[in-house]
Amino acid sequence: METTTKVQLLSDRLNALSESETLAMTKKARELASQGHKVISLSVGEPDFQTPQHIKDAAKKAIDDGYTFYSPVPGYPELRQAIADKLRKENNLEFSAENIVVSTGAKQSIANVLLSIINPGDEVIIFAPYWVSYIEMVKLAEGTSVIVSGSIENDFKVTASQVEAAITPNTKAILFSSPCNPTGSVFTKSELTAIAEVVAKNERIVVIADEIYEYINFGDKHFSIGSIPSIKDRVVTVNGFSKGYAMTGWRVGYIGAPKAIAAACDKIQGQVTSGTCSIAQKAAFAAITGSNEAAKEMSEAYLRRRNLVIGLLKEIPGLKVNVPQGAFYGFPDVSYYLGKSFNGIKINTAAELAMTLLNEAKVAAVGGDAFGAPNCLRISFAASDENLLEACKRIRDFLAQIK
Ligand code: PMP
Ligand code: GLU
Repeated sequence: METTTKVQLLSDRLNALSESETLAMTKKARELASQGHKVISLSVGEPDFQTPQHIKDAAKKAIDDGYTFYSPVPGYPELRQAIADKLRKENNLEFSAENIVVSTGAKQSIANVLLSIINPGDEVIIFAPYWVSYIEMVKLAEGTSVIVSGSIENDFKVTASQVEAAITPNTKAILFSSPCNPTGSVFTKSELTAIAEVVAKNERIVVIADEIYEYINFGDKHFSIGSIPSIKDRVVTVNGFSKGYAMTGWRVGYIGAPKAIAAACDKIQGQVTSGTCSIAQKAAFAAITGSNEAAKEMSEAYLRRRNLVIGLLKEIPGLKVNVPQGAFYGFPDVSYYLGKSFNGIKINTAAELAMTLLNEAKVAAVGGDAFGAPNCLRISFAASDENLLEACKRIRDFLAQIK
């Protein structure tokens, strides 16, 4: 009865949409915690640090200075200019303020871009493992996702020849993140250059480069595919403040895009949100024009925690563990444990493994199924050393009971 009502009430578009698995696991972890269980939540990808003080102060000042009105829909001009300056200085991207649109998070930025460029039936090549929301956003835009998978042997990275093989006359966009959520893999300049050469031969294709983890990079300097001259007019660079500046709740993200796409995203926001919170924008301005010292310190902490968690995971029998070069996720291959049982509970998939781990050991992680990698488990290491140590111990003891 309930299902029938749902199907009748809601649109086909909505009925085809899945819930965000990262947020769903986090909700379940919160529910268990509210029942008094000592849950360690490593499911949501969220910095555990507070937003740096100078950014908070800028928000307080914005309120006192009377920034309580609608802002221009694509963002305050000085914030858009500061973003353009950052992209030029740090990423070698030639943008002016008109190329920049500020949104309520990078999540909305990506949704805006897909809604702006995808017609029904257009194909979007998505590199797997992928961030959960890409596939669902493509569905909302009535496009078709074409999944191209990177293997653990190649650091989970898709190659240029795989991209070339996936292109059809219907390909409209390529979407990926680097540093990658969920694998932490970082594409090098030469890997991105090879992909750009393939894109350059196909004039219709737009590249959507999600660089939200730019500042959480443990290896070489970050490289933006949008800086490659042969395709620069067809690359949308997505970034934001959530991860690097520990500002998830403020909801500020942005794109640097060709003017036509930027104008389209502005138009969507004009009908859907009227732009981002004025106070959060003022905070974002302080973040992007202020010192990056706090961002650097947080990144150093993530590197230390990466070493801790990856070291502990490597000691667990049966796990195949890759070393992430950025972001804050471990993504071990857990296939050794699938098809076996925990206390009589059969565990067929990584999602079931994650659920049993939560119920039995009270550690929240996310099954790789949601990321297009059904053999893996995503474990966030954006948590305190103490919680990470305890969580790894619980994971080891839990897996030891799977027969
Ligand atoms: N892209 C990736 C790869 C992410 O992990 C996230 C985190 N939720 C986002 C985009 C969206 O970030 P936000 O909307 O908080 O800016
Ligand atoms: N990006 C984070 C994650 O992957 C936040 C949750 C979300 O927006 O889905 O967990």
